[in-house]
Amino acid sequence: MQLAKRLENLGTETAFAVSEAAAAWKAQGHKIYPFHLGDINIPTPANIVAAQNQAIADGKTGYAPAAGIPPLRAAIAEVEGAHRGIHLTPENIAVQPGGKPVVTKLIQAVMEPGDEVLYPNPGYPIYESQIDYFRGVGLPYRFTETATGFQVDMDYLESLITPRTRILIYNNCQNPLGTESSAAEMEHIAELAIRHNLWVLSDEAYFDVRYSGATTSIARLPGMQERTVILYTFSKKYAMTGWRLGAAIGPKEVIQPIARLNTNDESCTTHFVQWAGVEALRGDQSAARANVEILRERRDVTVEILRQIDGIVVHKPESTFYLFPNVTGVMARLGYTTVAAFADAALKNTGVSFCTRMHFGRPIPGESGHYIRSAYSGIDTPEIREGLTHFRDWIDNTAKGGAA
Ligand code: PLP
Repeated sequence: MQLAKRLENLGTETAFAVSEAAAAWKAQGHKIYPFHLGDINIPTPANIVAAQNQAIADGKTGYAPAAGIPPLRAAIAEVEGAHRGIHLTPENIAVQPGGKPVVTKLIQAVMEPGDEVLYPNPGYPIYESQIDYFRGVGLPYRFTETATGFQVDMDYLESLITPRTRILIYNNCQNPLGTESSAAEMEHIAELAIRHNLWVLSDEAYFDVRYSGATTSIARLPGMQERTVILYTFSKKYAMTGWRLGAAIGPKEVIQPIARLNTNDESCTTHFVQWAGVEALRGDQSAARANVEILRERRDVTVEILRQIDGIVVHKPESTFYLFPNVTGVMARLGYTTVAAFADAALKNTGVSFCTRMHFGRPIPGESGHYIRSAYSGIDTPEIREGLTHFRDWIDNTAKGGAA
């Protein structure tokens, strides 16, 4: 039997292969330290769980409106609009089963085949996959490493734009880099979007996962709200990754077709889960705040131990739960030429499992340096200490022994 040809253009999250490799190693009786997961091993706040159970008890188990139940659309508009300093009404909200569907639905709503889409690389791999699948032309833009983190290579980004460019995907509080824009960088990106009349997909999955300061939404800059669709999700802020609850937030002209895509795809986001979302937004926020403190401790320990390793450069971002250590020096010390071989050896020798740059989009020609991504959302602090101590000692002992 034949499969459709277009499937050849559909990418995936190759990071799942890392989970499989770690699981296979664990099945052989080895201990694993999972730094590869973008998932969260912290329970969903009890008030949110209780609200869902109540909604089921109240019979909120039938279909719901395609764009979402009115109380949730109103709560997102009110709470997240105020949080971002923008005016929103329920018509600006299309509830989704997670943040991820916003990528595919915005692309389907505004991109013609052959249109170009700028996207961050390294970046969330679903951007590239969905652009390719709907026969757009992906224009990956790149980052340069600074003394404290990463910044968008703005000259490079600008050089990519042509009259066919239609969408700019922007992920401030970035996965996998952990980086965020300076005010000047964000203003420059907004200026380009306005000058070239681009839609902006502002992926704000990590907007509230932050340890100091406040995140700015590009939608609040002058001239931006009318061209920006925000990818909003409950996944990270409220430790609700498996609940599948998020929203597209944007101008009503694009929210309406996105809601029509909802009707065609999933009909509606799970009815009782939406009621849990109302509680998440309007209820007690103390558990969500406490989760950030747990993540802060994990970040600090991870950075502390990685910085003890000669040949690793690691920045300390104020948002997300990702680090993107430069391991070029340590690979040279141990004699590895590919980051995949280094990751495999780290798993087999220490149980420490992580993704690499290769899991976050096709590398841009001319890239230099080797990077891994350490996620600390799925591993407790004592395990972080234990695993990274093994990792550090393995590197030091192997380097002393002269062979990997
Ligand atoms: N955007 C980014 C950058 C992400 O890292 C993720 C999840 O890992 C998502 C979007 C989608 O998250 P979800 O579909 O769970 O809301």
